[in-house]
Amino acid sequence: KQLLWRHNHPIRAQNSNHTIDDGFELEDVPHLTNFLPDLPSYPNPLHRSQAYAIVKKTFVSPEDVVAHKIVVQKNSPRGVHFRRAGPRERVYFNSEEVRACIVTCGGLCPGINTVIREIVCGLNYMYGVDDILGIEGGYRGFYSKNTMQLTPKTVNDIHKRGGTILRTSRGGHDTNKIVDNIQDRGINQVYIIGGDGTQKGAAAIYKEVEKRGLKVAVAGIPKTIDNDIAVIDKSFGFDTAVEEAQRAINAAHVEVESVENGVGIVKLMGRYSGFIAMIATLASRDVDCCLIPESPFYLEGQGGLFEFVEQRLKENGHMVIVLAEGAGQEYVAQSMHVVDGKDASGNRLLLDVGLWLTQKIKDHFMEVQKMPINLKYIDPTYMIRAIPSNASDNVYCTLLAQSAVHGAMAGYTGFTVGPVNSRHAYIPIARVTETQNIVKLTDRMWARLLASTNQPSFLHNSEMMKEKLDRETLDVINEMKINSI
Ligand code: ATP
Ligand code: MG
Repeated sequence: KQLLWRHNHPIRAQNSNHTIDDGFELEDVPHLTNFLPDLPSYPNPLHRSQAYAIVKKTFVSPEDVVAHKIVVQKNSPRGVHFRRAGPRERVYFNSEEVRACIVTCGGLCPGINTVIREIVCGLNYMYGVDDILGIEGGYRGFYSKNTMQLTPKTVNDIHKRGGTILRTSRGGHDTNKIVDNIQDRGINQVYIIGGDGTQKGAAAIYKEVEKRGLKVAVAGIPKTIDNDIAVIDKSFGFDTAVEEAQRAINAAHVEVESVENGVGIVKLMGRYSGFIAMIATLASRDVDCCLIPESPFYLEGQGGLFEFVEQRLKENGHMVIVLAEGAGQEYVAQSMHVVDGKDASGNRLLLDVGLWLTQKIKDHFMEVQKMPINLKYIDPTYMIRAIPSNASDNVYCTLLAQSAVHGAMAGYTGFTVGPVNSRHAYIPIARVTETQNIVKLTDRMWARLLASTNQPSFLHNSEMMKEKLDRETLDVINEMKINSI
């Protein structure tokens, strides 16, 4: 929060003698000159570039901002704005003095290699930088592993491969050791690709760099396949994941359609948010029911999952359930009597809800209902994470990487990049790590999904649901006086 500065910007309303406070707020990102005020600046080398010669006039003014809210209701504040990303007329690094490094941390996601490639090519082609190090094996690679020199030639083909050529890891973030290493190696631009944990690590690195008064720009490129990063429109790899998920859903559908009473279960990524499951369901049309962490469900009784499965089998002879990995975790934990486990980065380890649900449905129909079913469980999660990014994600990764390069060259630091209402912006790191995006049950998209699958909303079991639903959803339900709850 200390990194942010907000100000109110009063304007004079048109045709009015009153000055009104329009509620404009700017959440700015830090700049190297905040703690190194005497830094010299240089004309942007893009002035000389052929590609930019024709668009010279479109250097982004440092005053340009991007609005977080796209719809502003009458008399409501204009709200938060962020600095617009893009090349600045003047930069704070002389290209010859730049020694950049790139590190990738956390889980895999389609598109990481494309971002690496485009940072390298962006720095080299646009700014003439040719000293770029790849830090191998995540944060701990700063102090325990080798580095590799990255050039446009060495990264030329990497976007066609999944994974990360720099490799990755969890845990091992030691801020002091990392910054010591940055100093020792003479690195002055650090590009950090990773999820929420990684971005928290990036914020810690930025703060230490500032404390030591180093001329080092720290840029974060947010990575999460789950699309749960706050503020930005979408995270890279998400489109690819949704597209690849179609193949698994399709396989499940083909399987269950070919047998009697076929039930297909497909587990997709989504630890805390069900965006992949929701959008993959909406895209597919073969899914009868989508279960996500944000929407509690129950199995038995009126309006429960078993009743719905039975109804679909009677109507259609088969059905497909899409399940986000974070859904129903409390049931699985109860049934397995397990205590929470943690990974090396301190994240809660999830239990396999797919296996649990498969067993529950089998037990119910085979043992209790005495109704033979053919159940197929497909878990494509690791296959999805490992593929290269698709065309639209490749374009998106390029934009992210170029925005990060322009931002670091212009002297911004402690920022992450991402599109806000489809305009790329520089966002203070703290803003994207303090909250996570989740599917809101009161949003239009979830209503569209319910309308598309015609699945139960699981709102019948009043007592159980009241405990699990969030306040906002309960308020809406109460307001609408839905009788069943
Ligand atoms: P994803 O969850 O999408 O796989 P992530 O970036 O959240 O990605 P993590 O394993 O949680 O993955 O974290 C990656 C790196 O960030 C690890 O090296 C970890 O030590 C470091 N890290 C995580 N949380 C913090 C924190 N609060 N402060 C500093 N470093 C952190
Ligand atoms: Mg994470």
